[in-house]
Parts: sequence; C-alpha cells; structure tokens
Amino acid sequence: MNGTSRGPRAIDLKTRIAAVVLLLFIASIWLLTYVTTRRLQSEFAEVLANQQFSHVGQAATEIEEKIRLRFDALDMVARDIPPALLADPAGLRRLLENRPVLISLFGNGVVAVSREGIGLADHPVLPKRTGASFADLEYFRETMARGAASLGKPRVGRFTQLPGVAFAVPIVGEGSRIGGVLVGYANLGDANLFGKLENTGVGRTGWIAVNDARHRLIVGISDPKRILQPFPAPGVNLMLDRYAAGYEGSGISVNSQGLEVLSSAKQIGKTGWFVQAVLPTEEAFRPIRSMQLRIYVLATVLSLGVTLLVWLVIRRLLQPLAEASTEIRAMASGERELRELVIGHRDEVGKLLESFNILFRQRQALEEDLERLARTDSLTGLPNRRYFMETATQELARTARFGGTLSILMLDLDRFKKVNDTHGHKAGDLVLKKLAETCRATLREVDFTARLGGEEFAVLLPGTDHAAALEVAERLRQAVATAEVTLAPDTKLQFTASFGVATLFDPAASVDTLLNQADHALYEAKHLGRNRVCGAA
Ligand code: GH3
Ligand code: MG
Ligand code: MG
Repeated sequence: MNGTSRGPRAIDLKTRIAAVVLLLFIASIWLLTYVTTRRLQSEFAEVLANQQFSHVGQAATEIEEKIRLRFDALDMVARDIPPALLADPAGLRRLLENRPVLISLFGNGVVAVSREGIGLADHPVLPKRTGASFADLEYFRETMARGAASLGKPRVGRFTQLPGVAFAVPIVGEGSRIGGVLVGYANLGDANLFGKLENTGVGRTGWIAVNDARHRLIVGISDPKRILQPFPAPGVNLMLDRYAAGYEGSGISVNSQGLEVLSSAKQIGKTGWFVQAVLPTEEAFRPIRSMQLRIYVLATVLSLGVTLLVWLVIRRLLQPLAEASTEIRAMASGERELRELVIGHRDEVGKLLESFNILFRQRQALEEDLERLARTDSLTGLPNRRYFMETATQELARTARFGGTLSILMLDLDRFKKVNDTHGHKAGDLVLKKLAETCRATLREVDFTARLGGEEFAVLLPGTDHAAALEVAERLRQAVATAEVTLAPDTKLQFTASFGVATLFDPAASVDTLLNQADHALYEAKHLGRNRVCGAA
C-alpha cells in the first residue's frame, strides 16, 4: 500500500453491504419466526387448555358422585338408627358392624357421636375413639348447627394416624331434634378414593390434584408425600389463587417450585373442593419449541447463504472498479503508459471509468497544447528555433538515408532597427507578422518556415535542389518587397529582406553546417547591398 491510503482502516464496500444485508435478513427472519411461533404457541396452548379443561370437568363430576355416594350411604345408616339406640353403645356398634358398605367407603372407620360430642361407638374399634370428645371438630359443630351433612377439614386422624377426611351426617333423636352425628372417615391414602383419578397422568410430566380451597390444602394427588400439603402463600401461584377463589378455566402460571405450568381447574359441586390438571409448559410446548429451533436453524443457514451470494454478486459487480483502480495506480507510478480505461457495462462503474477517460483526454489535450506552445513563436505563430532544429535534423537524417535533395533558406529583414526607431516597436511587430504571412502564402505546404529569433527567419525546403531553392528565395524576396503594412489610414510601410540559400551536398553534414552556410550567403547578400538572394558556393 502506498501513502495515499492512510487513516482508519477502511472496511471495503462489499463487506459493508454484505453485513447490512445479513443484518436486515436475520432481523426480519427472526422477527417473523418470533411472531409466528408466538401465535402458534398461543393457539396450541388454547387447544391444550380446552382438552385439559374437559378432562378436569369429567373428573369433577366423577368425584362429586363419589362424595354424594358416601353421604348417601352414611345418611341411610343414620336413618336406621332409632333414637333409643343412642343410649345403647353396644347395640349401636353392632349396627355399624352390620353395614359392610361403610368399611368399603370409609377406610378410616365410622364413629357415632352423641349430641354432646362424645364418641358413642366406632367401627372398626380403635382404642380411645369411643369416649373421646369430638365437640371441637368443625364437622361436628357444623352438622349440629345446621342439621345437615358436612365435609370436614382433611387432616391426619387422631386415632388412625392416617390422612383422612370426615363425612358427617345428623342422626335424628327424640322429638325430631338432632340426636347425634354419624361420621365416616375416608382414607386419603386410599388409591381408590377418587377412582384412581389422581394417578391419571397428564401428558408425561403433568398431574391431576384434588384440592380443598376452603382449607387451602391438597386432598388427593399421585405423590403421597404431597397429600395434605398446604397451598403456597397467596401470590406465589397466581392461577392456584384464582382457582381457590372459585374460578373455572385454564391459565399459565409459575408454581411454587418455580416451574411454568399450564393448568385447568373445575370446582367439585358445593364441596369447596376443585380438581386441577397441571402440565409443565416445558412439555406442553415442546413440539412448538422444536419447530422454533428448526426455523431458527433454517433462518441462520438461509441468512448466511444469502449473505455469501450478495457478497459474491457485489464482488463481481465491483470487479471492473478494482481492476481500473489497479490500472490507474500502475499508470500513476509509471509502471504502465497512460491510456484510456476499457469500459465494460454502462452502469455506475462504467460511468465512473468514462469520467476518468474524459479527464484523461483533457489532460492529453492540455499536454498537446503545452507542447505546441513550447514549439511556437507567439508573435508570428510560426515554429520557433527549437522546433526548426528538431524538424531540420529529422529531414536531414531522412534525406541522408533515403536520398533526395534538401535546401535551407535564411532571411533577415533589412535595416529593421530603423523601422523600430522611426515607427515604433509596434510597427516593427506588424512587419514581422506580415513577413510570416507572406512566407505562408508564397511557400508550399511541405516547406517549413520558422522564426529563428529577432527579425531572422529560416525555411526548410525538402526535395528542393540549389537552383530551385534560389528560385523560391527570389520569389519570396519579391513577395516581401511588394508587401506592405498599414500603420495609419494613409501611412503604409514597405520593407525588404536579404536571403541566403544553402543546399545539402554532403549527406554527413549537420543542420548547423547547413545553417552556417546559409548564414554566410545571407551575410554576403547584406554586404552586396541587401534586398537580394545569395547562394552558398
Ligand atoms: P541589417 O539590414 O544589417 O540587418 O540591419 P538591421 O537594423 O535589420 O539589423 P540589426 O541587427 O542592427 O537590428 C535588428 C533589430 O531588430 C534590432 C531589434 O530592435 C529589432 N528586433 C528584433 N526582434 C524584434 C521584435 O520582435 N520586434 C521588433 N519590433 N523589433 C525587433
Ligand atoms: Mg538580424
Ligand atoms: Mg536585419
């Protein structure tokens, strides 16, 4: 690189354009991909949510039936208890024993409680269950207060040490007042409690749970460790909060384990419980995610391909520019002669190269002008001494080589000093111009007239022998003598010149020799009285 390309390192045009294309392409493809997959994802989520919601809807109906079945069975047994039997614990126990359906529905047993809240009889018999107080338990209080069935808070039983939930119904006593409460305890660990529902998977990583919204805890779920686990604090899992408040539907939220999940929920009748299906979005949206990844890979490959293509096309388009630039540098450094650039296509590059060629032609013309000026006398427009010497040398060499004749004629204005002195320098100039004009008008095209200096001129006469040259000189002398310059409307000036003629006889003679000979003849013409022609002997 030479000194002209200093400054910050420039990134070339093709690279810059290719980079811009790459950027635009990638940005638009990624935007498109993002928007499309977002939409797909939300539509996909809606389909999944609808499926899930219908699933929990069925489950909720099923569980509601199982709960009703338990209340109905309990109620039937309670109706079979005559008020008098409440005073006969042994009889009461026998009655409970004779109802095997109770054991199949209430895995943790059944207890008849007096209206005061004391356990009267239980089945199966557990130590201390009979005689224990149930007065403080919510299901007992509620049934007693409302005279209707109630569902207890799921908890680990005092006597069974097993997770369970109490179903309580009133026992009619004397005079249609409530005589006591019959309580059945369902075992929450029993896989059959909700019809194995909680073991039904949702997808591969999802699950179904039965939740108690009133007490904010999990009633049934496939993971036994999570049974009776309380809900996270309000605000942790936003969808769970909504479901607990009674909402039925679906939504995406982050659960207490920090997992983003798609969940659906349906309330179970008036129990205050709801069924919830949960599917981590990681699994739910996997098909969309893998499609997203494929699109991104495709977009990247496509972007790189297009960029490479653009780079190649631009390189091809700019190739003439690069070549021209190399050529111009070579011309500037002198490695190559100056010449016009070859133009391919008439595109922007072609126009640029054409502009260079225009500048180049202008420079050529300017050079020619300078060259001409350097060889021309400005007053008369005739070639100057230098030009005369060059041309005469060439002509002499040509004649020496190919043969032929060549003469030189020299002339000098007579008493020119007097013209200047009498009429002024300007008049002298006019005479000089007139003389040049006369030479041009009188001589042939091939004769080469030059102003050697001052009022001294020379003419190169190719193919002219001595006699013919003397004739030419004589003709010119007469033409000069008859020419005149008009100084003022009635002042005309005439002038004469003396001529010396020399002819090439020795092919080895130089221009200087020939000029010397002509000069001698000219001197003789002056000496003999001027306005005449003398030939070199
Ligand atoms: P001779 O007949 O012996 O040649 O006499 P002359 O007066 O012509 O010769 P001389 O050499 O004494 O004078 C030449 C004069 O030519 C002197 C100079 O002032 C004049 N002269 C030379 N160049 C120019 C020019 O370009 N313009 C004008 N007006 N005068 C010039
Ligand atoms: Mg002179
Ligand atoms: Mg003179």
